[in-house]
Amino acid sequence: MKKAQEILKEFFGYDSFRPAQEEIISEILKGENVIAVLPTGAGKSLCYQIPALISDNYSIVISPLIALMKDQVDSINKNKKISAFINSTLEWIEIEKILNDIAFGKIKLLYVAPERLESKEFSERLKSMKPAYLFIDEAHCISEWGHNFRPSYTKLKAFIEFTGIKKVSAFTATATPEVVQDIIKQLDIKNPKVIVKGFERENIAISVYTTNKKRDKLLEILKTNQRPAIIYVSSRKKAEKLNEFLNLNKIKSEYYHAGLNNLIRRSIQDEFISGNIPIIIATNAFGMGIDKSDIRTVIHYDIPGSIENYYQEIGRAGRDGKPSSAILLFDEKDLSIHKYFIESAYPKKELIQQIYSGICDFAQVGVGSMPDKNIPINTDFLNLYTKQNISSGLLHSALTYLESAGYLKVNSSFTSNDSVKFVIDPNRMKQFLKSTDNDELKDLVLFLIRNFGSKIFNERISIDYQFIESNTGLSNNSQKELYNFLSDIGFAEFISLDGKETVTLLQPRVVKENLRLNYKLINELYLFAQEKLEKMRSFVYVNDCRFRYILKYFGQNAENYSCGKCDNCNSENPIKDIYSILLKLLKKKIYRLMIMIKILNSSICLMK
Ligand code: ADP
Ligand code: MG
Repeated sequence: MKKAQEILKEFFGYDSFRPAQEEIISEILKGENVIAVLPTGAGKSLCYQIPALISDNYSIVISPLIALMKDQVDSINKNKKISAFINSTLEWIEIEKILNDIAFGKIKLLYVAPERLESKEFSERLKSMKPAYLFIDEAHCISEWGHNFRPSYTKLKAFIEFTGIKKVSAFTATATPEVVQDIIKQLDIKNPKVIVKGFERENIAISVYTTNKKRDKLLEILKTNQRPAIIYVSSRKKAEKLNEFLNLNKIKSEYYHAGLNNLIRRSIQDEFISGNIPIIIATNAFGMGIDKSDIRTVIHYDIPGSIENYYQEIGRAGRDGKPSSAILLFDEKDLSIHKYFIESAYPKKELIQQIYSGICDFAQVGVGSMPDKNIPINTDFLNLYTKQNISSGLLHSALTYLESAGYLKVNSSFTSNDSVKFVIDPNRMKQFLKSTDNDELKDLVLFLIRNFGSKIFNERISIDYQFIESNTGLSNNSQKELYNFLSDIGFAEFISLDGKETVTLLQPRVVKENLRLNYKLINELYLFAQEKLEKMRSFVYVNDCRFRYILKYFGQNAENYSCGKCDNCNSENPIKDIYSILLKLLKKKIYRLMIMIKILNSSICLMK
């Protein structure tokens, strides 16, 4: 570890490792294959950069975040060019130069986008130069159970087999034990050492109230709890209604959601940051774009759909390290909206089949034929055809499954009539990029700024999804989500021709029963989402330390952990309560007995 310590100082300018880093690096140096799960910002990059710099041979880092590669590489290369990246933005000649540098031992750390590994020739070159380690960043991308599956990550296993690399470690911030097991299986890592650390937040006190009078409870809580506060609700309408209610009760607050126009959203955000608005009532879009370290209270007026979301949202409290609270108000009825979301995300087999046939029938495409024109999607027709009201969420989920199985391609809303413009000051954007924990977002924004310069802050840029995908690895869908998000937080104006979708068949129409989709997986994911919701619900009813429940959920060893701050840690344990009641009873009995003895004693005395 001495060498590691020197490199820490020399290359990164830090004096000491964080505890998890030390453990992970020393395991990797011992030759162990590590799966490290540490929260965002914990410093995972150092855990692979340092072993790579120590090693004699070069190492490969797989990362999906193309625009971020350049930043990482630049920061390591400050003193000496020792690191490089290869992705689709480079010309052939540049790649050749880097490969030569590796062969001559000049480059120790090579960042590679997963797509590159599809090329046999490229893999052959990497293999011939005998890499010491393979490191996989954002490793949750390999699991369909993870929150951000990327098909290109599935090529990794073949790459590992082909090159025969034995030392493989993986890093992620978001993996439940199920996802960790899946990562191990998908990569076929032998005897991995799983290290999960750092999910505790010492300054956040959690409490949960089960009530069907949430408004009254909220008023009561707001009487004592400190500002600034965020109150999370599950819908836009609720945000507005609750805000009205608080204002009627003379509590100063504002609501915030994606339906408000950009200017208003921005001004609400600014006022919240500056402290003029003490309470914000918001949907879950709010928070990521906010770099505010003194938020004292996060209230969940509605329960989130998973512990992951809950953890992320309460994590916005107390970034300054000072005592803060996270309060959840729970009413069983609130679970229904999540159940609805889950139903929409994982449509049943029969429904996917019907939607496919419905789309084809509407355009009068016979089985076995394939029109060269795009087919419009007519939702009224689909509703009649399937005899149910198909929500846009449900329709999109079904189309996504059909698309990923190669039957069709969803177009028009993604063709390049969409446009985006950043509507905040460039410095503010920079500030935001530093603070956000969403790497994909960083990747996209950095790419856009690099590519369009200040233009994107001044005028609308028409979006070429394909071009951006080839430079960032972000699919159309992911990009759209991110633009929508930037627009939700008031950072960008995004105009999309949503709702006017068409599809192109990529194969001649098949009989619907012959559609080959992975229905089993869809069903498993459906059950998994339900299980996540159920675990969120169990969190409400748990009796022991709430943070311990969260740590266990993430697979962190929490055997003897208790936060000492949550409602359960602070309340009397029910079992302890029974003991104390028994003890009290016993004491009462003893007391009576003693009095009896006393009386008896004194009467004996009297008799004497
Ligand atoms: P992660 O990938 O886990 O989200 P990063 O590797 O991006 O986190 O690191 C987050 C930040 O922490 C970076 O700014 C990094 O320079 C800093 N950092 C990492 N290790 C240390 C350390 N030992 N001491 C101080 N700062 C560190
Ligand atoms: Mg990282």
